[in-house]
Amino acid sequence: MDLFSYAFMQRALIAALFTGLAAPAIGTYLVQRRMALMGDGIGHVAVTGVALGLLTGTSPTWTAVAVAILGAVAIELVRELGHTNGDVALALLFYGGLAGGVLISGLGGNSTARLQEYLFGAITTIAVADILVTMVLAAVVVLCAIGLAPQLFAIAHDQEFARVAGLRVRAYNLLVAVLAAVTVTVAMRTVGLLLVAALMVVPVATAQQLSRTFRTTLAAAMVLGAAASVGGLTVSALLSSTATVAPGPAIVLLSLAGFVATWPVGAWLRHRARLRAPFVELDPATHEETDPHPHDHGPACGHVAVEHGDHVDYVHDGHRHAAHGRHYDEH
Ligand SMILES: [Zn+2]
Ligand SMILES: [Zn+2]
Ligand SMILES: [Zn+2]
Ligand SMILES: [Zn+2]
Repeated sequence: MDLFSYAFMQRALIAALFTGLAAPAIGTYLVQRRMALMGDGIGHVAVTGVALGLLTGTSPTWTAVAVAILGAVAIELVRELGHTNGDVALALLFYGGLAGGVLISGLGGNSTARLQEYLFGAITTIAVADILVTMVLAAVVVLCAIGLAPQLFAIAHDQEFARVAGLRVRAYNLLVAVLAAVTVTVAMRTVGLLLVAALMVVPVATAQQLSRTFRTTLAAAMVLGAAASVGGLTVSALLSSTATVAPGPAIVLLSLAGFVATWPVGAWLRHRARLRAPFVELDPATHEETDPHPHDHGPACGHVAVEHGDHVDYVHDGHRHAAHGRHYDEH
């Protein structure tokens, strides 16, 4: 365990912890919006940002942040157009980003080995300045993901309704895109740009196996992400005397192992839920339970009431829900 007394290892552990918390936090919203691969797309675009940083001799972190944000906003705008050729436009952006990055990196006289640190991660070479940037950016992502949870959940859940309820849907969509871009850049030293999407998606998929509500999924995904990041780094460090195990792939494979391990538990939970209530949950996505409620909604409670099928929903904290038996449901 001597290894953990080295400063570089302590830096790597801090970076892994913060990355492991931030990536699933924003990933939860991407998964909920069925945009699980957005992180992958931003990762490809960010390669060009890293290459520009290497070419100009500036910090690749900041050029990657800038290009990743531009790419994420472009992806969001293409998505918003909803055009049938949208996926082709995205593909062009992704391949352009990756190819452009490798090409620019070569122009600058950098070997692909230098770029590879960013493609697959090189957490143990992370410098003190990079750690500080990682911590601050990751903290911003986590604070937004938790603090704006009601609004972001409402928009990810039902965009049309959120618009009717007066939420600034476009601004929040762009915020999610920017936060995803920041997360990709934060994670690039840890798991690398080509594997970053795994850390944004796999812990969320694992958490969804075990949890029914949005809040517990978000919390469990962050715990799983942090455990996989710190665990993968530890495994790669412990094996470093006998074999070369890159931390990035170790982290991703460990989180995949977590998903595989929880799959039978999730299947059993789903089976049990079906036995208890065979016909209730036709569409689980429209029946997300909320926490116990602070007050009883009614005609005079001051919240906007919306007729919805055989019941009335209330708009509250930017989302819409209805009393249903002894609890409230998200609708
Ligand atoms: Zn009310
Ligand atoms: Zn309803
Ligand atoms: Zn309410
Ligand atoms: Zn219910």
